[in-house]
Amino acid sequence: MSKIIITAALTGSLPTKKHTKHIPITPDEIAESAYRCYNAGASIVHLHARDACGKPTSEPAVFAEIVEKVREKAPMLIINISTGGRGRGQEERGSALYLKPELASLTTGSVNFPDAVYANPPQLIEFLAGEMQKYNVKPECEIFDSAMIPSAVELEKKGIISAPLYFNFVMGLKNAIPAGEKYLLRFIEDIPAGSLWGVSGVGKHQLEMNALGIKYGGNVRTGLEDNLYYEKGVLATNEMLVERVVALANQYGRTPANPDEARDILSLRRIDSKYGKDTN
Ligand code: MG
Repeated sequence: MSKIIITAALTGSLPTKKHTKHIPITPDEIAESAYRCYNAGASIVHLHARDACGKPTSEPAVFAEIVEKVREKAPMLIINISTGGRGRGQEERGSALYLKPELASLTTGSVNFPDAVYANPPQLIEFLAGEMQKYNVKPECEIFDSAMIPSAVELEKKGIISAPLYFNFVMGLKNAIPAGEKYLLRFIEDIPAGSLWGVSGVGKHQLEMNALGIKYGGNVRTGLEDNLYYEKGVLATNEMLVERVVALANQYGRTPANPDEARDILSLRRIDSKYGKDTN
């Protein structure tokens, strides 16, 4: 059976406790949710940080606490931190990379979000990619629209990021690429041979895109960052969403990769999470 890498995007930058009591906000809540998702079959957690008021932040001290607590609670998990942050400066957006997560998100272009521009000018992208290279962090290229794929390939040509490229297609966000099979197939066709990919569906598109990712042999991101509901009117937890992906994958004869299998598939370096030191 072919393996599937499941990423749990636990928190994101938008949901609050007013939207759902299940959204993990504090470092302790995030670590607990990460642990439950690991037990459910996730091998990667994608992390955002919030300040004491619950607002999104790139504050390195907050990220440090989250990463430390996740590594304590679930030392085997692969950590992927966000370098997003609308309106924040480049130094700020890259300020937690010194923590040397194995992965970090890198959006390789600008796009309209539902109510604002998500600005990622070329110099910011190159700066963040350069910081990732410096700290030996593999970028997960977050693709919200078609032009972001050649932009990522360009970074590889310049030697700022390394093959195999790893793409996360974020589909179904209003004003960005729509959800749907034809758009996914186009993305898969557009990426360089030998690249790795996963897919996220936003809101009501999560389940559909998760299923298509499984069907076409890719990997899948799920979690409350992208969608709050298990079904209409039923709020989800992160682990419920991971369990649902595992069950769907099993129907296609696919089983979740454990974190070390995922490290091999993605060509990630290994870290000794207890000491934060590279082991290879
Ligand atoms: Mg994110």
